[in-house]
Amino acid sequence: MKKRLRLKPVRTTIQIFFFILILLISLGHSLEEAGVTIPLIQGASLHAVCPFGGVVSLYQYITAGSFVQKIHDSSFILMILVFLTAILFGPVFCGWICPFGSIQEWVGKIGRKIFKRKYNRYIPGKIDRILRYLRYAVLLWVLIMTAVSVKLVFADFDPYYALFNFWTGEVAVTGLVTLGVVLVLSLFVERPFCKYACPYGAVLGISNFFRIFKIRRKASTCISCLECDATCPMNIEVSTAKNVLDHQCISCFACTSDDSCPVPETVQFSSFNVVKVSEETSPAETKETKNEN
Ligand code: SF4
Ligand code: SF4
Repeated sequence: MKKRLRLKPVRTTIQIFFFILILLISLGHSLEEAGVTIPLIQGASLHAVCPFGGVVSLYQYITAGSFVQKIHDSSFILMILVFLTAILFGPVFCGWICPFGSIQEWVGKIGRKIFKRKYNRYIPGKIDRILRYLRYAVLLWVLIMTAVSVKLVFADFDPYYALFNFWTGEVAVTGLVTLGVVLVLSLFVERPFCKYACPYGAVLGISNFFRIFKIRRKASTCISCLECDATCPMNIEVSTAKNVLDHQCISCFACTSDDSCPVPETVQFSSFNVVKVSEETSPAETKETKNEN
């Protein structure tokens, strides 16, 4: 039998690496004042490594003909890289790199230990589905307000910025409050900011509709154990999907046969449909859902 590759430790290592990198970049100024310089990241700033800064500045340029203050060229390069990876693999930035997504996940591990299977299941499905479109409203608000003010208006509410700058005295009270609320909510709901409020997640989530490499489930070998549903941080019903096309998928691959699905080669990450037409009926009858195509 083909040996299974375990993705979880690889993903955790990458998340820790980026979390420490962003933390060191944020601490850079304070450390430099104390006479400590870190080679390679000397002079880097949080604004320079924020791909969302590139998005709002580009929008600002298109609508008003000027770039947003504080945005660096590196933000544009990162924005292009993140978009290219999203077209290929979906929002891997959210699932593997974003340190604010990672910290919500790590706090969520405590919640999962306390509340066990009830964790991440507190909000009724109907309300939850509506709330998930809130992040598009936030995105619209950020774009309009940025174009009007020529400033990164979201910075005053941004919990990511607050997390990596709370010691500087530059963070608005609204940012600190948002950070506190998100971290407390993460004890009950997995990645609440990603699900309901992140404007960048909203942009990247659209890639799920056309990404080249998709999460695909082979119904003929599925044993309906529902492990994939229980593991998905974004509460997506992978167990009834043929191809996951949900706008909330963060490409964490936790549902795949390389992670939680106990049956080899049943949930796969692939650019082509691994399921033959003759194999499509199974004990777990595949429902026609918005997760399929
Ligand atoms: S569907 Fe799979 S890859 Fe997408 S968020 Fe859920 S567990 Fe992660
Ligand atoms: S796809 Fe895998 S994890 Fe999901 S219900 Fe089927 S066998 Fe279980």
